[in-house]
Amino acid sequence: MATMLDGTIANERKNVARSVAEIDETKVQAFASGFHGELIHPSDNGYEQARQIHNAMIDKRPGLIARCADVADVIQSVNFARDNQLTLAIRGGGHSGPGLSLCDDGLVLDLSLMKGIRVDPSAQSARVEGGCTWNDVDHATHAFGLAAPSGVISSTGVGGLTLGGGLGHMARTHGLTIDNLLAVDVVLADGRFVTASAEENQDLFWAVRGGGGNFGVVTSFLFQLHPISTVYGGPMLWPMEQAADVLRFYRDYIVTAPEEVNGWFAFLTVPPGAPFPEHLHSKKMCGIVWCYTGPLDKAAEVFAPIRKFGPPALDFVGPIPYPALQGMFDPIYPKGLQWYWRADWVKEISEEAIAEHVKYGSQLPTMHSTMHLYPISGAPHHVGQNDTAFSYRDANWGMVIVGVDPDPANNEKITSWAKSYSEALHPYSAGGAYVNMMMDEGQERVKAAYRDNYKRLVEIKTKYDPNNLFHMNQNIRPSA
Ligand SMILES: Cc1cc2nc3c(=O)[nH]c(=O)nc-3n(C[C@H](O)[C@H](O)[C@H](O)COP(=O)(O)OP(=O)(O)OC[C@H]3O[C@@H](n4cnc5c(N)ncnc54)[C@H](O)[C@@H]3O)c2cc1C
Repeated sequence: MATMLDGTIANERKNVARSVAEIDETKVQAFASGFHGELIHPSDNGYEQARQIHNAMIDKRPGLIARCADVADVIQSVNFARDNQLTLAIRGGGHSGPGLSLCDDGLVLDLSLMKGIRVDPSAQSARVEGGCTWNDVDHATHAFGLAAPSGVISSTGVGGLTLGGGLGHMARTHGLTIDNLLAVDVVLADGRFVTASAEENQDLFWAVRGGGGNFGVVTSFLFQLHPISTVYGGPMLWPMEQAADVLRFYRDYIVTAPEEVNGWFAFLTVPPGAPFPEHLHSKKMCGIVWCYTGPLDKAAEVFAPIRKFGPPALDFVGPIPYPALQGMFDPIYPKGLQWYWRADWVKEISEEAIAEHVKYGSQLPTMHSTMHLYPISGAPHHVGQNDTAFSYRDANWGMVIVGVDPDPANNEKITSWAKSYSEALHPYSAGGAYVNMMMDEGQERVKAAYRDNYKRLVEIKTKYDPNNLFHMNQNIRPSA
């Protein structure tokens, strides 16, 4: 298996499961006869394509891929995997860094055909099926002048991003994605279908808001939407020589900025092509990607002090439809690149941390490699640390260091840069992890992500999935 991953999850679980190839053929046929979606076997033509996920560093060969057409297919697949002791992986948008939506030999329950979305304009909400990406959601909601807070790349799956928390362009204004979740429909390990919300199965609703895919297959999400259509946003870039000053300005500004102002900091390499001016092509720079959700006629005034601080070398900030901002970086990060990331929560950015950032930011190993600081001051702080499973409400940023490149020959280069950068910055972090931006980093790191919420998560996991059928995730282990 060509991968730079640590492999703990895969190794620990290998002994407990059977492979699809070991199952009596009549059982597989019986499963197929009642299935309405698409079943893809290793011998089928589409298999090689169907087993690819976003991170091309992942090379796993499932025994069977079940592309579910509806909830009935999901129930049947869960029952089939459980009754035959198969490893079961759930695939939403397929953006897991460590490839947790794929497994070797077992069953992949693939939700990608389940893309129904129903927008309720009067309630300003949307019911979204588990196979949607954020691109699907933006398309459906923008037609009504509405939007849901999500991430910063529209090809990401609604399923994984939401269940782990969800940091994005609108977080300071409207909170994490889970802060806008009203209800979920879930197929549990025993095959039962339940709804979880503030009114029903409250323990499960608490757990799915940050606890990842540990508790069942979420077949649909009900989101609160917001009247957001055109925002004032886009990137501003500065030369690397100004990085320390930009980071200092950004740190001090964003924590106390009005909540309509969102902006994430990045180290990046300017892509060598339009629309970027030629003199900036392939230059390593630092930047802030803004998203102001307030009244457009106030935007110039709000951004005046930002532009005055140090006129940017490139200023692409202006009125933009929200889906265009959300999809702006999709072409740079298509499916099929090699990815290795590390992430931490950050409360403060000290002078020492700035010095390390500038050192490693100046050494971006490839054009696609990057570091982002996503602000979560503002609305995410209005929710209590124990009100949802997501624990790091007291952090001000999620920091992700991402080594990315098309060429597998550079895997060592991007991985070692990301690890060294992360190790240099970890001492200045708040300590825990973000489950959506972890590799396979071991159980202590999963616990660190949840802090004092972990104990309750174990209790809820033990109630809903005592045998850990849903273990291809940043795993919360049930008590024995
Ligand atoms: C290009 C890119 C951009 C990203 N940008 C952001 C960002 O801006 N903000 C942010 O917060 N994160 C971001 N992420 C991280 C992202 O949130 C996680 O990788 C997330 O897990 C992806 O969800 P998915 O459904 O696409 O992935 P998958 O690989 O399909 O699933 C990831 C995990 O979630 C589980 N899962 C998925 N759907 C379901 C479901 N319906 N029911 C139960 N379990 C499910 C899977 O089993 C797996 O364990 C980004 C990742 C990439 C690769």
